[in-house]
Amino acid sequence: MEESHSLPIKGVWNKLSIKDLDIRGKRVFVRVDFNLPLDENLNITDDRRIRSALPTINYAIDEGSKVILSSHLGRPKGKPDKRYSLASVARRLQRLIKKEVLFLPDCVGPKVDEAVSKMAPGDIILLENLRFHNEEEKNDEAFSKSLAGLADVYVNDAFGAAHRSHASIVGITKFLPSAAGFLLQKEIEYLQGVVNNPVRPFVAILGGAKVSGKIDVIKNLEDKVDKVIVGGGMAYTFLKAEGYNVGDSLVEEDMLGLANEIREGVVAKGIKFYLPVDCVIAQSIEPAAETKLVTSQEMPNGWKAVDIGPASVKLFSEALESAKTILWNGPMGVFEVDAFSRGTFAIAHSVADAYALTIVGGGDTDLAVSRAGVSESISFISTGGGAALELLEGKDLPGLVALTNK
Ligand code: AMP
Repeated sequence: MEESHSLPIKGVWNKLSIKDLDIRGKRVFVRVDFNLPLDENLNITDDRRIRSALPTINYAIDEGSKVILSSHLGRPKGKPDKRYSLASVARRLQRLIKKEVLFLPDCVGPKVDEAVSKMAPGDIILLENLRFHNEEEKNDEAFSKSLAGLADVYVNDAFGAAHRSHASIVGITKFLPSAAGFLLQKEIEYLQGVVNNPVRPFVAILGGAKVSGKIDVIKNLEDKVDKVIVGGGMAYTFLKAEGYNVGDSLVEEDMLGLANEIREGVVAKGIKFYLPVDCVIAQSIEPAAETKLVTSQEMPNGWKAVDIGPASVKLFSEALESAKTILWNGPMGVFEVDAFSRGTFAIAHSVADAYALTIVGGGDTDLAVSRAGVSESISFISTGGGAALELLEGKDLPGLVALTNK
């Protein structure tokens, strides 16, 4: 799981990477994204983001660096709050990395300075949640400087936070040589590779709740994509815009005009545009709700679409067969409820079985793929929701822009 340079993104990657820096024996401040999902008892429910950062951390340890890790967790509103402590993350990291991890109860201040001054090569410190200080989200200069004062070099491996102009992402880079870690680089290579230079035929599958969140992705891919498949809640805005009755399905009324415009624009470019031809409907999204299978032309009032049906799965899966690149963002239905998960899981299997470079990015799609049991068969699963979307929309990520140019 080392860094991958297999994707052709020549001309895009002009930033220092951790391998370009001399970090031997140095204090390295590594911004990671350990914003992990926790259950109501604060147990970690998924540690993929820790495992994804291990190549960078292990590399720094092998180089004899003193590794200072920092992250945010949740939204603690600028003050200490036990519910958002990284203490349990430190324990999980220690178990995964099989080395002692010293957890500090703050991220700045004299005690932190003292602990860092005692570090030996190969030591690891994890600082407490950066967002216990509201200066973090304000990209405050003095706070950035205090963080920078802990280290000799800065490495950003927090792809999931790279779209934020925060002190530990942007402000700190003003004071230290700043490079990308392996995870950040790999994320950019895959996601930007797919935007800039996909191997064609390239199929984008878009789902999830809202059209408004994905319109810019469609627009940005317009000149690169061969087929667009739309499922999930957003499909019903497109269907209604075409004149279908969609009952009580999720619809963004203010997006109807734009939805038509986008679809017509895409089709005019010769891109195939697929919408569900059948759906599973229910009167509520309760797990025990009665369901019916109907075609997209016969959705009754009082019922809402909660999943795509088997004919849509077949149509979409056939559309994937010839693909060489597949990008999937957003579930096909309310997959969190077992009874409405079949369409999403079936598409997860079709993506996993495709003889293509398969990239899953943004939103809950990584969870869907993992619940479907096919994560290992996907070429690349992004660790960043919002950051992945912004890249796919063609936006610059402040965290990437801020790194030192080569
Ligand atoms: P997003 O963050 O936009 O990718 O949306 C993900 C959410 O979309 C998931 O929580 C799904 O439950 C939800 N979703 C998917 N399909 C539907 C649907 N047909 N109606 C309502 N919500 C949906």
